[in-house]
Amino acid sequence: DPRVTRIKRSIRVVPDFPKPGIMFQDITTLLLDPQAFKDTVDMFVERYKDKNISVVAARAGEDRNPTLEFPITESLAGIEARGFIFGPPIALATGAKFVPLRKPKKLPGEVISEEYILEYGRDCLQMHVGAVKAGERALVVDDLIATGGTLCAAMNLLERVGAHVVECACVIELPDLKGRERLNGKPLYVLVESH
Ligand code: IMP
Repeated sequence: DPRVTRIKRSIRVVPDFPKPGIMFQDITTLLLDPQAFKDTVDMFVERYKDKNISVVAARAGEDRNPTLEFPITESLAGIEARGFIFGPPIALATGAKFVPLRKPKKLPGEVISEEYILEYGRDCLQMHVGAVKAGERALVVDDLIATGGTLCAAMNLLERVGAHVVECACVIELPDLKGRERLNGKPLYVLVESH
């Protein structure tokens, strides 16, 4: 897809941020290029609209429009903070609700929490109880997968409330960190790989 070239070029790599040795993938420069930002959202929307067709097949024989009745993603969970940039436009365009997954002490209602290990230390993601119901089909969106710990925690939150995670979607994958292997076979869709 020729759009990927523009998306990839629009991502700035900042050496030694936030720590020496890290090549930080900075998507703020992608947001400065309206065409690249639109292409990014469009590519996800096209993929998750297309997936409705497989749901149509699963519901063959029903005399109504399954695309409307059974959207592939009823809920779309976005991870703080950069998942909040890409998640909402995809949710709006696919007719899914948007569920923010946040760091502790941000969500005002009752929450469930999932702790996960980082390279140095721990972190935690929270989700509002009642935001996603058992049996819902969910897509998890973030800007980047590195070790996969964050997406894993997000999936655990959704699965603990009985949701079915259809897929994880990220703009960037750092394949050298093998985060994909931590997702327990859950499909991961990325637009750009960075080595
Ligand atoms: P993981 O849990 O190791 O897969 O790290 C992924 C999380 O860290 C995501 O929420 C990313 O936003 C963030 N992250 C890690 N490295 C980068 C980077 O180079 N650029 C932007 N975000 C990053």
